[in-house]
Amino acid sequence: MTVPIAKLSFWGVRGSTPTVDPATWRYGGNTPCLELIAPDGTQFILDCGTGLRMLGSRWAAPNGGKVPETHIMVTHYHWDHIQGIPFFSPLYVQNNEFHFYSFRSKYLGRDSLKQVFEAQMALPYFPVDMSAMNAKRKFKEVDGGDSFTVGENKITARWLNHPQGCLGFRIETPAGTVAYATDNEPGDAKLDENLRELAAGADIFINDAQFTPEQLETTRKGWGHSSWLEGARVARQVEAKTLVLFHHDPDSTDRMVDTILRQAREEFDSVFAASEGMVITLGAPGDNVQAHMPGTRTALRREAQFQAKVCGVTEGGKDFEEATVVRDISLQGALISLKHLPRLQSELQVTMEAPGVDGVQSMHLRGYVVRIDAGAEKGHVAVGVVFTD
Ligand SMILES: [Zn+2]
Ligand SMILES: [Zn+2]
Repeated sequence: MTVPIAKLSFWGVRGSTPTVDPATWRYGGNTPCLELIAPDGTQFILDCGTGLRMLGSRWAAPNGGKVPETHIMVTHYHWDHIQGIPFFSPLYVQNNEFHFYSFRSKYLGRDSLKQVFEAQMALPYFPVDMSAMNAKRKFKEVDGGDSFTVGENKITARWLNHPQGCLGFRIETPAGTVAYATDNEPGDAKLDENLRELAAGADIFINDAQFTPEQLETTRKGWGHSSWLEGARVARQVEAKTLVLFHHDPDSTDRMVDTILRQAREEFDSVFAASEGMVITLGAPGDNVQAHMPGTRTALRREAQFQAKVCGVTEGGKDFEEATVVRDISLQGALISLKHLPRLQSELQVTMEAPGVDGVQSMHLRGYVVRIDAGAEKGHVAVGVVFTD
């Protein structure tokens, strides 16, 4: 018997507008786009922010081309959720076929999403004519409260509290359930209930975490977004298993998102901050939810043999200290072999010993776990760390 596995990839996690500020590179600057490959091979794409371009450039027909079905859910028509459409190269390939789902906007009327396509590519906003988009496109209107099935998967849409409306989607696959609730603000009883219904018992609950709880109460009230604290509260209430903080503010630096994540982990046990390139596997034997991060270091790297002392927090939440050797270093990070299994996206204190003119000197660095792989040595894991200061 094969175990059904679903794979959820984060191609864009930033809210409102893309960022190219180096202080945001670690979590990433592309706007919302997620991809969920269900166990039956159906490919779901959630939102068409600038992350969609990256997905298009790594395009492979779903299920090896055997069932080339791609279903694209667009939550709403704000720029950050549609801006990737004209740059999604598979739309310009004749044999591809896409099923789009979105709601009828009262500002646009019938065929809202089709109109969004046309408007985005109208003269003088875009150099290429709409006729160059050769792929077959089917548009389906969905309303809050609708439920439908695609392959073996059940999709439910619910309205969320956001200016001009936004749909949240719950996708139930045989490997587990993903609730995608970007762009929503707490405070409307009926719509808050919708959010809880979407997230009820979900394996992965992706929620808007753009603002801090303080901003949400004061300067950013009414802007249509939520906070890590609201996400943690809802996750606890509805017994969602893992919370993913999403739609990071363009003004939030990586260090600020680190702090947000740390605070959220004090409130709820299993939390990740959505990070560009992050992949979550659902339904894998042993651990139902497994997160993996991409290789993020692009800087010059060199093999090294530095003695080091490492302090951090394990997967189980316990503090640890370990003496080891740093085997590879760059100006951004290092690869460290550890017996302990540190928690992904947690902080590590690394103290390295380096021979100096006045004897052995130590270099203290604070790092952040971005990647964990099987180690070269038995009983060890290879831990990728990005230095933050
Ligand atoms: Zn947004
Ligand atoms: Zn929005």
